[in-house]
Amino acid sequence: MSGEYQFCGYGDCFDIAVGMVGTRSLCGLCDEAGCVIGDSECQREDAYDHGRGDEHGTR
Ligand SMILES: [Zn+2]
Ligand SMILES: [Zn+2]
Repeated sequence: MSGEYQFCGYGDCFDIAVGMVGTRSLCGLCDEAGCVIGDSECQREDAYDHGRGDEHGTR
């Protein structure tokens, strides 16, 4: 097995990422957005957009 499911390496992001065991990986969206593990702010446009009247069920 080369990878495992884990939470995104970015602390405030709760998406699932696939990464190597024992390492932290960013989810696809964070990776695309240019987030950096350990950085103070998620770069995703929707990073902190939790339920602002947009009910698309992103969980
Ligand atoms: Zn993420
Ligand atoms: Zn992020």
